[in-house]
Amino acid sequence: MILKDYQKNKIMQFLSNKIPKVKCPVCSNTKLSLSEEVFTCVGFSNSLADRDIGELPVIAATCTHCAYVLFLSAIMIGIIKTDGTWATEDDEAEGSQQVSNDVPGNPDGNVPDGRALDTIV
Ligand SMILES: [Zn+2]
Repeated sequence: MILKDYQKNKIMQFLSNKIPKVKCPVCSNTKLSLSEEVFTCVGFSNSLADRDIGELPVIAATCTHCAYVLFLSAIMIGIIKTDGTWATEDDEAEGSQQVSNDVPGNPDGNVPDGRALDTIV
């Protein structure tokens, strides 16, 4: 499923609050391209019949210079709830976030003006 605008905005808000000067850990490039969908990292099992393996929903951020791919937890960002369902705009409006994105010094969680984040969506 392609992410909706409010979900993309939530990712940008999360990054602005948590990693305002995001850069590639390999080459230090500051331009990262965010995936427009949620991917899943699946737990390993040596049996195809094993249905009790974990999944980790992630947003991929790809360095536009060296192609390193960085994964960010979609649950920590608040795109996916801890029960594995999609967070909705209504969840946001009701303030029922399961993971707080509050940052000391920015208690209202607003995206600060003059972002240092140079990220492509
Ligand atoms: Zn890089």
